[in-house]
Amino acid sequence: MRGSSMTDVGAFNEKLVLQVIRSAGDGIGQAEVMRRSHLSRQAISMITRRLIADGLVEQAGRRISGPGKPHTLLRVVPDARLAVGVHLDPAHITVVVCDLSARPVARTRLAPPTEDPEADIARVAAAISDLSRSLGAVLPAPDAADDPQCPPVPRRLLGIGIAAPAGLDAEAGILRDPPWLPGWWGVPVVGALSAATGLPATLDKDTNAALTGEIWTRHLTSAQTVLYLYVGHGVGSAAGKEGRVHRGDTTQAGEIGHLPIGRPDRACTCGRHGCLCLYTDAHVLVAAARRAGIDLPAPADRAEEIEALAAAAASGEAAARRIIGEHGAALGEALRILAGVHDPQRIIIGGPTWPALRAEGEPRAREVLQEWLTATGSVLESAHLGDDAGAIGAASLFLEQELAPWNGTAPRS
Ligand SMILES: [Zn+2]
Repeated sequence: MRGSSMTDVGAFNEKLVLQVIRSAGDGIGQAEVMRRSHLSRQAISMITRRLIADGLVEQAGRRISGPGKPHTLLRVVPDARLAVGVHLDPAHITVVVCDLSARPVARTRLAPPTEDPEADIARVAAAISDLSRSLGAVLPAPDAADDPQCPPVPRRLLGIGIAAPAGLDAEAGILRDPPWLPGWWGVPVVGALSAATGLPATLDKDTNAALTGEIWTRHLTSAQTVLYLYVGHGVGSAAGKEGRVHRGDTTQAGEIGHLPIGRPDRACTCGRHGCLCLYTDAHVLVAAARRAGIDLPAPADRAEEIEALAAAAASGEAAARRIIGEHGAALGEALRILAGVHDPQRIIIGGPTWPALRAEGEPRAREVLQEWLTATGSVLESAHLGDDAGAIGAASLFLEQELAPWNGTAPRS
């Protein structure tokens, strides 16, 4: 469920100041906060006093800049609040606990989702409980927050972000019909995980989560449009601007599996030819590798199969290099179309299988895009977040919902 309540001005300003201080990293003076937030000195003084009292912000020494007295620097206390990220990837479930910078402070990897979502949710809830206990984190106590006698509690858990493959209904918190998770169709995952843990939760697509994670950890909040290509069991895209992900009206934006990339050679079940998924789904790569006689583990764990293919390519096996290279070229063709649609200044390729495919795949994708990159001065790069991108992104989703200026109420304290 995404926050959709009216934003009141006080709460907006408080979150705005918090965002400005957070984005500055290792310390920022009040005058600079004023310049970046366009708020008055009085408003910023009042808000920073409150953020300091809540334990979210601290004074970080003084800096001398030019004549006049040195000014006090402010910075966010990263582990003042923590958020849980859960990535329901078909290959495995990852659970992380992240601080306010979306830096993971604890993580665990569980066996993949099964046909028994109830048991899976119990496993995830147990993992969250174990990780929280190991960190000495505490659950939010809404009544205590209003009590001036109650000191701010460190390491308070805000809630849970859940990332899952499409299709899902983010608003209702339900997985609709993700093709790679047949046992989870219709599961109200937000309600179930909230009930099992006592924490609020939010749900979004893995693609949107991965982009949110890059935005949150790298402060990609400029006016620049960012396009993210997510490579996992399937391929999806996400686009954002000024730190906000564009989701469309039913969270279906970026469902590009059936985007025709201009090749007539393969017919798709959707009735058209040359759909992107026919060249880039993980099972297509693995099938091509098996046909080419590349030595892969018995079909059980798709991630292991992809790793083995990547290892074969790294050791110089020509067939493996060709298969991953063709995959990268198909991604490049899709990006060429998407770049025309979104006009991004930055293109990021990431997702769970990308770290394995990147070495062979990125140069080929770049080759296909090069002319456009040169003409527009845009950047193509691989995601900074690696294997845990989905889970860290999921935690970022919750941080964003709670703390981004454009969302709902004041920071939970
Ligand atoms: Zn198709």
